[in-house]
Amino acid sequence: MTRPISHDRAGTQRPRAGLDTRPEARLEARLRAGLQGEVRFDRFTRGLYSTDASIYQVEPLGVVFPESAGDVRRAVELAGEHGTSVIVRGAGTSQSGQSIGRGVILDTSRGLDGVLDFDPAARRVVVEPGIVLDRLNAFLRPHGLFFPIDVATASRATLGGMAGNNSAGSRSVRYGHMVEHVRGIEAVLADGRRAWFGRDARGGPARTSDPREGSGPPPAELEADLRALHTREADELARRVPDVPRHVAGYALHRLGREGAGLSDLLVGSEGTLGLFTALELDLQPIPAVRALGVCRFDGTAEALAAVPAIVALEPTAVELFDATVLGLAAQMPSFERVLRQLGEDGGSRPRDILVVEFAGDDPDAVSASLSALESVMEGVAAGVARAESAELQGRIWALRKAGLNISMSQPAARKPLAFIEDCAIPLERLPEWYRRLTEIIDRHATHAVWYAHASVGCLHVRPALDLREGDDVERLRAIAVDAFSLAGELGGSHSGEHGDGWIRSEFLEPMLGARLVSAFGEIKRRFDPEDRLNPGKIVDPPRMNDASLLRARHGLEIRKLPTALDWEKWGGFAPAVDMCNNNGTCLKRSPGVMCPSFRATSDERHSTRGRANALRLALSGQLGDDPWTAPELYEAMDLCLGCKGCRLECPTGVDMARMKVEFLHRLRAEQPLSPRDRAFAYLPRYAPLASRLAPLVNLRNRIPALARLGEQVAGLAADRPLPRWSSRPFSGASRPFSPDPGGPRVALFVDTFTRYFEPGIARAAVRVLGGAGYRVEIATTAGRPLCCGRTFLNAGLVEEARIELDRTVRALSRFVARGIPVVGLEPSCLLTLRDELPALDPGPEAAAVAERARLLPEWLVEEDALSRLELAPLPVRRVRVHGHCHEKAFGADGPTLEVLGAIPDLEVEAIPAGCCGMAGSFGYEAEHADISRRVAELELLPAVRALEADEWLVTNGTSCRHQVADLADARGRHVATVLDAASRPRGQSVDAAVRRLRKLRGRHGNLSVAEILAFRDEGRR
Ligand SMILES: Cc1cc2nc3c(=O)[nH]c(=O)nc-3n(C[C@H](O)[C@H](O)[C@H](O)COP(=O)(O)OP(=O)(O)OC[C@H]3O[C@@H](n4cnc5c(N)ncnc54)[C@H](O)[C@@H]3O)c2cc1C
Ligand code: SF4
Ligand code: SF4
Repeated sequence: MTRPISHDRAGTQRPRAGLDTRPEARLEARLRAGLQGEVRFDRFTRGLYSTDASIYQVEPLGVVFPESAGDVRRAVELAGEHGTSVIVRGAGTSQSGQSIGRGVILDTSRGLDGVLDFDPAARRVVVEPGIVLDRLNAFLRPHGLFFPIDVATASRATLGGMAGNNSAGSRSVRYGHMVEHVRGIEAVLADGRRAWFGRDARGGPARTSDPREGSGPPPAELEADLRALHTREADELARRVPDVPRHVAGYALHRLGREGAGLSDLLVGSEGTLGLFTALELDLQPIPAVRALGVCRFDGTAEALAAVPAIVALEPTAVELFDATVLGLAAQMPSFERVLRQLGEDGGSRPRDILVVEFAGDDPDAVSASLSALESVMEGVAAGVARAESAELQGRIWALRKAGLNISMSQPAARKPLAFIEDCAIPLERLPEWYRRLTEIIDRHATHAVWYAHASVGCLHVRPALDLREGDDVERLRAIAVDAFSLAGELGGSHSGEHGDGWIRSEFLEPMLGARLVSAFGEIKRRFDPEDRLNPGKIVDPPRMNDASLLRARHGLEIRKLPTALDWEKWGGFAPAVDMCNNNGTCLKRSPGVMCPSFRATSDERHSTRGRANALRLALSGQLGDDPWTAPELYEAMDLCLGCKGCRLECPTGVDMARMKVEFLHRLRAEQPLSPRDRAFAYLPRYAPLASRLAPLVNLRNRIPALARLGEQVAGLAADRPLPRWSSRPFSGASRPFSPDPGGPRVALFVDTFTRYFEPGIARAAVRVLGGAGYRVEIATTAGRPLCCGRTFLNAGLVEEARIELDRTVRALSRFVARGIPVVGLEPSCLLTLRDELPALDPGPEAAAVAERARLLPEWLVEEDALSRLELAPLPVRRVRVHGHCHEKAFGADGPTLEVLGAIPDLEVEAIPAGCCGMAGSFGYEAEHADISRRVAELELLPAVRALEADEWLVTNGTSCRHQVADLADARGRHVATVLDAASRPRGQSVDAAVRRLRKLRGRHGNLSVAEILAFRDEGRR
């Protein structure tokens, strides 16, 4: 027996009298006992799942991670018995509030993400709902097939969520929506029954025998009732449903009249309100052999839109608009700067707007002919057409398109472009009028908007900028929606073309479709879910779209001016920087890339960039207790952040979590002093000179297992991880230039603590390489101990200590910079601290000048064109595989290493497509993090390293990366300086001859110690 419930329009349960006073605790216990999957009802998880990519925030009772269809069924039954609603979700990237609510959330993306059945010949696959689109397509690719609904969120959107929203992608002009490709759905209904809903002959499932246990055909009366409802409403549907290719508003009752339609057609787009999908049977498409893009440039948005009908007549697979605002913002982002340059989008020559037109097919000549046709149709219409035929350039253009929405969000302003009228689909010939009149509406309401996306089907994403913390803008939200939707209706369009209804558009179904159809939707809902348990308040019986109690802004990430250790001015403060996260979920991607390794290794929202940004937002807005900085949940979220800066590069709105972690740790330090172990890591640069003198003693820990075990017990140092070996002959700084050519150009070498004390050979190799290229090398030094970038202090949140180090370093390096001498460094995390954190700590002109001139060795060799000055000979290996340090990648500084190595004769150079190595400074040595560190490394790096052949070298410039591969794969990683040194050592010259040469140099410059010369000799012999 299930208990009846009632709820308000946001899905709040109002328990009937007599229920347990703490029903959620009982429900949690029963769910834990009854399900295989994890159950979390804690405050933090509830906070993390209280938002999706919409403007809303509503805290659920708890979250369940089902592992099987049986878990889904059991969760629905138990929730029903407790009078609680159920909201199913995938990645939670919906923008209309349809994946949040006050009941129990079921997240399918972790445990229900398998491929159940695949028939390549029939081009058919059966999947679980939590599988991510990109992963499905990676599985299908070897078979020449793909699933063609290419949503911009493909890297994290789940097939269940795509079906729930009836999603459509950029290529919908060719492939349509989800509904056209879903052949059948297995769903758990509100009463816990599991049924198969197929397309096919009326009254029966497409699959006559279903192998899945417990799944049967839909109840016959349900099918009959809904068919009867369709027949009854056929005339009204014909009259009211807009005749545009994009229309996903309400339930798709109109589809039941189509040839071959089944109840699955009605379930697609039902936003989790009719049934919870546990399996989807999908139609697949062959991958076209050739794709090509024509990028048409226009002088204005209206001109671009006027050209759309003529372009669509050429039968492209996509036509996508980017307006001037989106292009302007993209041009400021490191990851898109290059593609815009490739398209000629720089500075003055940048056009106002572009239409990206794609043609695809199996015949290259036909595709090329289509591009030519585009060029001739656009003659005199567009300002120009650029062809993009290489896969590489097309990939970059599509990446720009996919990030379009987030780019528009990347403006650090109180008013942000919001998704609420972004989904109107307008007949093509009326697009210019839509643009003109909607712009007038937006102007009238005293704001502005960005325009981009699916011009081919008249669905342009228009996002007016509003600040919902302001009461006026909350009213404006509604007023703009009312005006825009009424205009869309007048022009024969639909107000809901892609992103679903949720809380944002459901209340407007009636003005568009009429009271009669909205009442029919209510009948459908009651037929499936009479007690309104499944995702209540969406599509049927919705709240007002600007109901203040639902708005995320209500929880006011009070943009209170917080005193901060770092400079956050670029974002307008720390809180606004946190607020840049709009929950779009790019950081939840599973595919290789730099962001976000801790999520990829754990599949846990808490350990994603989004989870961390939300944790900070919750903490700063007082939702995790009074003191924002000491909430244990915040610590939990930050703990596994590796500080890899992947988000700095890849988060499309520019959330820089590594920097936020420094700020967080700094605040935490005020409450919680460092442990002795963390102190030892942080202060390493200070005691390094002494430790290296005691190297044989200190290194004993690595040789005596009992000491290592003791270290784990007492200090939490992972016993199975050898610590970096101290060199007893560290690199000693020389104050006078070192050069075979005293008249040569000068360069200052910044030798960091790690290189100096653990791998001094790298610094010596760099000196030889630079000297060999004819440069006078000056080692940057200062009085007292060697220079340091403060990295280890920053990692521990000891900002003031880092500042002390950086002050010394800036003073020392400024002496070179002031004389126009470039500063070159070797260790990416150290040198790039000078470019990244230094300006955030010290906004002065000296620091800015150092930050501007500091370069990694390969960067500088490329910029200076110094490679041509090196005489490079072949190496004894055929190929090098290069693993870029994550900070190098975050600064686009990994490319030069490939370029430099490419100058070595007869050498193949290939990058390993991996993100962070997982070591991340001291992270991998910490006992509690050793496992996660290994899991991160196992994502791509270690498999690639293990696959190295005898005639291949691994090149990696990060000291952490070299230790990680040595410890976990027993492999040697080489710094680019040592590789260049090996390639530039004159063949046939004996080591002793080289030493004699050095002695001669010493005689000339007097700045090399005997130890230095011996070290040079040792390395030369190795
Ligand atoms: C930056 C950005 C770009 C976007 N671009 C596009 C685009 O190009 N095209 C497009 O169509 N959309 C787009 N969207 C919207 C959204 O990403 C897509 O609709 C996506 O398909 C949702 O997938 P998800 O896994 O995040 O679903 P969720 O948001 O988790 O869920 C979506 C809906 O489906 C329901 N649902 C989820 N799983 C199930 C299930 N197992 N059974 C029944 N119902 C279920 C949920 O209750 C919810 O109502 C974009 C969103 C963002 C933030
Ligand atoms: S952190 Fe960045 S990528 Fe992740 S959800 Fe937020 S805005 Fe998107
Ligand atoms: S710094 Fe790296 S680990 Fe931390 S949130 Fe960003 S991508 Fe994830």
